[in-house]
Amino acid sequence: MPSRRQLLKYIAALSAASFSGGMLSQSATARVIAWKNWSGSQSCVPSARLAPASVSELQQLVAESLVPIRPVGAGHSFSPLVPTEGQIVSLARLNGLVSHDPDQLRATFLAGTQMSAMGAPLHEVGQALINMPDIDEQVIAGAIATGTHGTGANIGGLPSFVTGLELVTASGELIQCDADNNAEVFQAARLSLGALGIVTKIQMQNTQPYRSRRESWILDWEDTLAQADQLADQHRNFEFYYIPFSERCFLSTHDITEEDKFSTPVSDGNESVQDLKLIRDYLSWSDTLRGLPIKAIAATMDREVVVEASWLNYASERNVRFNEMEYHLPREQGLAALREVRQVLEQDHKAVFFPLEVRYVKGDDVWLSPFYQRDSMSIAVHRFYEDDYRPFFNAVEPIFRKYGGRPHWGKLNSVTRDEFAQMYPRWNAFVDVRQQLDPNAKFLNPYLASLFSGAT
Ligand SMILES: Cc1cc2nc3c(=O)[nH]c(=O)nc-3n(C[C@H](O)[C@H](O)[C@H](O)COP(=O)(O)OP(=O)(O)OC[C@H]3O[C@@H](n4cnc5c(N)ncnc54)[C@H](O)[C@@H]3O)c2cc1C
Repeated sequence: MPSRRQLLKYIAALSAASFSGGMLSQSATARVIAWKNWSGSQSCVPSARLAPASVSELQQLVAESLVPIRPVGAGHSFSPLVPTEGQIVSLARLNGLVSHDPDQLRATFLAGTQMSAMGAPLHEVGQALINMPDIDEQVIAGAIATGTHGTGANIGGLPSFVTGLELVTASGELIQCDADNNAEVFQAARLSLGALGIVTKIQMQNTQPYRSRRESWILDWEDTLAQADQLADQHRNFEFYYIPFSERCFLSTHDITEEDKFSTPVSDGNESVQDLKLIRDYLSWSDTLRGLPIKAIAATMDREVVVEASWLNYASERNVRFNEMEYHLPREQGLAALREVRQVLEQDHKAVFFPLEVRYVKGDDVWLSPFYQRDSMSIAVHRFYEDDYRPFFNAVEPIFRKYGGRPHWGKLNSVTRDEFAQMYPRWNAFVDVRQQLDPNAKFLNPYLASLFSGAT
């Protein structure tokens, strides 16, 4: 069999299409104090970028600041949560495991800990995170602040695992909160968008270390949709991607296993996305031709299996940059919305090559969680970072909204304050807590002010 690259080159050579153009070069960015997010779509020139070395230094900084302050994690959010002309504060120097409770399987981390640095110390103390997202580059405070989630019909998003928090409020005061102490603050701070204060420590409910068996395979679109709900209920974790113009989906499950570690050969996700881009560049003039190489490659793919410690088996690297919109829909509405999103993509937005990503998340009771009181199906759309994401995202967002979707807080959306207030039964409670903790709006940037300042 030819390799995938050979196959692609062969098909590209057969194509009558002319190459639509090379990569745009990245524009140079100022290096001094400018900030930009992972995809480059959000940026600002703050008055200062600070990384305090201790909680007391942070308290002093917050208490004395005369300009707005925005906490930042790894900068992996797509929505305008961080940009400010005031100060950007990173907790990168406040990281690591602080303490653990072996009886309750809970552990406390400093808020600036990168998720990739949580698995090993947790393993050493006999614990593991209950679930993980696609990547582990986020810091834990940034991840919970936006409701970051993995997949699992019976597993909530990361904020639902939080059992206690410590935060510095606008006055510089240090507050501890959990379900029993400062309970209102706790309910708001479990998912806060960094709009209540700066979280310094996070205690989370964990589980015992486990090995997971990840299986991935290709299946036809209709068969995938027919089986999706059942697979979601049968497996600890289930997700799938629809590959545009191919009639094919890439499915993946995780289950707890006692098996020894092993791995079949596995496909490289970054290389696959680059291949899809190449196919788009050469063949987007013909839907039928475009699907051929994908189907040919899919036909050669064997089922992939990886048995590994859970914390090494969920996340992968995402090297091909993109912008993203993700909505969380009532689970029972998800597949109908997905069909419409696919139709819009393949009819009117043929330049899109990133697969549609579909995940399941259990409902929770976190005030601003998109999973608040409802089991959800999450559908994510992506556009290459150099492409204008707006036409496609503007076209699919009404579909998500029509089916009752709530946007991921860290991803692009156009939802307004009034619309959020309709979506979230505890919206006003959150706004009240925010107002009490930060009456002078020290932690608001223009985007957050558009959501939270003034009357509710
Ligand atoms: C390649 C890629 C893959 C992704 N995969 C997933 C996925 O699988 N699932 C998913 O749900 N999301 C995913 N996301 C989105 C991402 O998880 C969220 O946007 C997350 O919030 C990013 O974390 P961060 O550390 O980069 O935080 P940032 O983006 O830097 O900040 C996010 C928010 O956290 C606040 N914050 C940061 N630190 C603190 C603090 N100490 N105290 C208070 N507030 C704070 C910020 O003010 C901001 O409001 C992905 C994003 C990318 C780029």
